[in-house]
Amino acid sequence: MPRTLSVIKADIGGFVGHSAMHPEVEELGRERLRDAVESGMLIDAQAHSCGDDLFLIMSHDHGQDAEVVHHFAWDLFVAGTEVAKKLHLYGAGQDLLVDAFSGNIKGAGPGSAELEYEERPSEPVIVFMADKTSAGAFNLPFYKMFADPFNTAGLVIAEPLHSGFSFEVHDVKEHKKIVLNCPEEIYDLLVFIGSPARYAIKRVVNRATGEIASVSSTDKLSLIAGRYVGKDDPAAIVRCQGAFPAVGEVLEPFTTAWIVEGFMRGSHYGPLMPVSLGDAHPARFDGPPRLVALGFQIADGKLIGPRDMFDDPSFNNVRQEANDVADQLRKHGPFEPHRLPLDEMEYTTMPAVAAKMSDRWAEM
Ligand SMILES: [Mg+2]
Repeated sequence: MPRTLSVIKADIGGFVGHSAMHPEVEELGRERLRDAVESGMLIDAQAHSCGDDLFLIMSHDHGQDAEVVHHFAWDLFVAGTEVAKKLHLYGAGQDLLVDAFSGNIKGAGPGSAELEYEERPSEPVIVFMADKTSAGAFNLPFYKMFADPFNTAGLVIAEPLHSGFSFEVHDVKEHKKIVLNCPEEIYDLLVFIGSPARYAIKRVVNRATGEIASVSSTDKLSLIAGRYVGKDDPAAIVRCQGAFPAVGEVLEPFTTAWIVEGFMRGSHYGPLMPVSLGDAHPARFDGPPRLVALGFQIADGKLIGPRDMFDDPSFNNVRQEANDVADQLRKHGPFEPHRLPLDEMEYTTMPAVAAKMSDRWAEM
């Protein structure tokens, strides 16, 4: 029977502002997960935070989209919101967009990445947790991990990777999906995933074995709610070694400070900075966007770890690069390309300003 690793996450209140999560909220998450493991509902579980988002990492046998797991996560977020309200944390319950749970957490606000897999004798996985960025932020790194031989040597020299990977891409606006096979459809793939605000990689599969290599949360909060209410701050799970890229090949794409959307007010582009858990508290202009990588060995469903993978001086250069890119972009102030194009903005005064100025525009 396949095993499932679920990462379900939400922003239920920030401390201070949008910069981090309050320890009391995180502790409530840990307590509830401990209870769920003791009751036998989960095999193992951990709660971690990146910025103002709480990530529940849950190992279980219920399969993906299991109501029992989703309902449990929803109730935990509702309880966490009560703590956030008591402490007057910022934006308490901001990702809980519906009044009551109705079977699945998808479409209710929280993000989810769920991996169904047959556990290998050694099962290394990396759970990525991002803050101040959006669903498509993994497009470029996933491309490099699974399709770029200059990043992943295994595509060239390791037999189990040599047939390539297939990419399931979601159109987050039209709610459609497509599967593209690499390497032969690389150019077609890039047409779509090069536009990450609309097309996001949901799943990557090893073509030789059919095994899922990675999954990400692709739900755009803004579109779920019909308006911009959050920055979606995605999660991803990547399996490593064997028929998948090695751990170092999975982390290598993050040695460049890729520019992603989601900086200040969810309305600016900024560099994605890979950091340790201890540095996952974006404060400068509510950023720059952060990414944490937690490594686990899974042993009979138990989460052995985490190892804080970006807690490594070999990522110092990219962190410096991220600061340099942030400095340069910040100088643009309210101008694009630092500010997002109008149709991507989380906040905009344009309708009100346009209405106020409507009778001042003249034909020319
Ligand atoms: Mg956040």
